Amino acid sequence: MADAGFYGRLVDYHMHTPLCHHAEGAPAEYARRAAALGLKEIGFSEHCPLPDGYDRLRLREDQLGDYVRLVEEARRAAPGMVIRLGVEAEYVREDLPYVRRMVERHAWDYILGSVHYMGMWNFDAPEAEREWRECADLYEKWRQYFELWREAASSGLYDTMGHPDLVKKFGPIPREDCRPLFREALTAAAEGGVAVEINTAGLRKPVKEIYPSAAFLRIACEMGVPISFGSDAHAPDEVGSGFRQAVDLARACGYREYARFEKRRRTLWPLPA
Ligand code: ZN
Ligand code: FE
Ligand code: FE
Ligand code: ZN
Repeated sequence: MADAGFYGRLVDYHMHTPLCHHAEGAPAEYARRAAALGLKEIGFSEHCPLPDGYDRLRLREDQLGDYVRLVEEARRAAPGMVIRLGVEAEYVREDLPYVRRMVERHAWDYILGSVHYMGMWNFDAPEAEREWRECADLYEKWRQYFELWREAASSGLYDTMGHPDLVKKFGPIPREDCRPLFREALTAAAEGGVAVEINTAGLRKPVKEIYPSAAFLRIACEMGVPISFGSDAHAPDEVGSGFRQAVDLARACGYREYARFEKRRRTLWPLPA
């Protein structure tokens, strides 16, 4: 395990709560785990509501207040820990006005933009693994994903883009050179003033690799797109996991700083050694 000094100079901005129906442990337990590691700042980013018709892997509209209260409880349980209130909001082309309305209900510290759907297909769900393994037009799927991603980055709705190359989750990677897709996507991020998240959940998935890849991150760095850090913890013991590797990756791709957020204002901090 990395030392407390290392964690003390980092933040984990991607953590969930039981309110999304696929995570365990109260926010206060995540905060205690973070404190044990030596983290001094964390942020929750629960899945934002979507309209009826999608699956139920997120807050219901009437639970936004419950979520805010759980995070406030965690603050009381972990005095001395800075706890940001974020939200992981979908980019869904047809239902973006709804997402925008939900996001406007609270003064979040940051809004994490995630693409988990192509149309109504949740390509991130465990049931999608077979489709990915049997997929005959992998590059076309990636192209479609990054097209949505580009729209998301241009929407002005998000502060940082969550798990930027989530399409690789189940392992299959196109044979084609995907860097032109990355470049187009990241141009939108650079122009939109949006950061990208280094998300260590990929290490725990079939692909066994941090999101995003080094190829993606090198282009991001060249373009001056800032990074944020998140474990995407769905259980307290996942807080801060893989962060040593995440920082090593960031440095190898040219980064020296990372982003923190407060009330959607971004500041840059030096990466820990
Ligand atoms: Zn989740
Ligand atoms: Fe996600
Ligand atoms: Fe998440
Ligand atoms: Zn996530």
